[in-house]
Amino acid sequence: MKKIFICITCGKYTLKNEHCGKNTKTAHPPHFNPNDAYGKYRRKMKGIE
Ligand SMILES: [Zn+2]
Repeated sequence: MKKIFICITCGKYTLKNEHCGKNTKTAHPPHFNPNDAYGKYRRKMKGIE
C-alpha cells in the first residue's frame, strides 16, 4: 500500500514526503476519515488504497 501525504502548504495529496519545499503530513492516521463517510465505499474499492 502506498503512503499518501498531504501538503500542509497547498493542501494537495502527494506520494512524496515533501511538497512546496516543505514536509508533508501523512494522510493515513486513523483520524484521516473521522466520520467514516467513505468507509463503505472503501470496502468496495480496495484498489483505491
Ligand atoms: Zn504543496
